[in-house]
Amino acid sequence: MTLPRKDFFELPEGVIYLDGNSLGPLPKGAAARAADVITREWGGELIKAWNTADWMALPAKVGDRIAGLIGAPAGSVATGDTLSIKVYQALAAALKMRPDRRVILSDSGNFPTDLYMAQGLVSTAGQGHEIRTPAPEAVAEAITEEVAVVMLTQVDYRSGRMHDMAAITAKAHAVGAVMIWDLAHSAGAVPVDLTTSNAEFAVGCTYKYLNGGPGAPAFIYARPDIVLDVEPALAGWLGHDAPFAMEPGYRPAMSTERLRVGTPPIVQLSILDAALDAWSGVDMADLRAASVALCETFIREVEARCPELTLASPRDAAERGSQVSFAFEQGYAAMQALIDRGVIGDFRAPNIMRFGFTPLYIEESDVLAACDIIEEVIKGEVWRDPKYQTKSRVT
Ligand SMILES: *Cc1c(COP(=O)(O)O)cnc(C)c1O
Repeated sequence: MTLPRKDFFELPEGVIYLDGNSLGPLPKGAAARAADVITREWGGELIKAWNTADWMALPAKVGDRIAGLIGAPAGSVATGDTLSIKVYQALAAALKMRPDRRVILSDSGNFPTDLYMAQGLVSTAGQGHEIRTPAPEAVAEAITEEVAVVMLTQVDYRSGRMHDMAAITAKAHAVGAVMIWDLAHSAGAVPVDLTTSNAEFAVGCTYKYLNGGPGAPAFIYARPDIVLDVEPALAGWLGHDAPFAMEPGYRPAMSTERLRVGTPPIVQLSILDAALDAWSGVDMADLRAASVALCETFIREVEARCPELTLASPRDAAERGSQVSFAFEQGYAAMQALIDRGVIGDFRAPNIMRFGFTPLYIEESDVLAACDIIEEVIKGEVWRDPKYQTKSRVT
């Protein structure tokens, strides 16, 4: 099947959706699937559905489908909880693997929650760990033998700048550090080959490019050869080797299942399962080629028509994920004016207008139509209207 596959999604009339990097749109099959799970399985089967509808197997089934999109083998990805929790689990496990080292290396462009979770963990552990956050460009040279863990988000949420996964992982391993990749803006956006990268851990969320819906469960990957060395920091009963034996003591499962925590969110997992049908038959290399073409068109057109906007993403497509950001002093108000005209992107403080390109449902004609509206808003200084200046709670 070729791209785009717009028919798969519920896309409101008159909207050009360039925010699938933040919250993917509703897959048509998701509503029916959720209704079936709620009405027939939960409503009709009640507690029996854990067995009759195989609810307990759903986290692993969905994990295997995600594994296929990130170059990981079946059985290596656990799902559930939120990404913040998965970051904590990966980082705690990685620190346990390097008890003699005290440095966590990330970068200053990382998403705040990743750094906050690290700060909380360091404080709880009380072992004097230090978190270093050099500029993204300076990370490679900051990987020294003091470093226990390198924890990076591959694609920067603000600028779209993309780290070289293979090169940085190799550098981390050369000094004996553990590597954790956050794939929040990579899974479903760019080809990822975890197996070849040889990274120990990866984590990600599923409501962005994977279209799992608001609050969809996150995922965590542990390299198969180290999974039995992973000491779960969150020793929940569903990560136990025999949850229903109800033993008093914790014994981790002898697989990636040890990274599960508590009862899986069955309705959200079912929606995600339905959403993942969008990927059947999609070649990630084709997706990447389409994404690069869309981003290149967008950059060329915006720069030609709106010199007021400054490109805030790498110009070289090879160093960019599947989003393009422009800096503009009045970015917040301008984005509100765009949204009012059906072009939905988002704004990130202090001055970044962010546009995500998702070839599953965006095509060249959408990009050109969006550029017409951007030109109208910027050239016409439509953003000056006071109604666009008031900030909402969620930007
Ligand atoms: C979106 C995103 C998150 C969000 O974490 P949640 O726990 O799902 O709210 C975390 N980290 C990165 C890098 C992200 O892009």
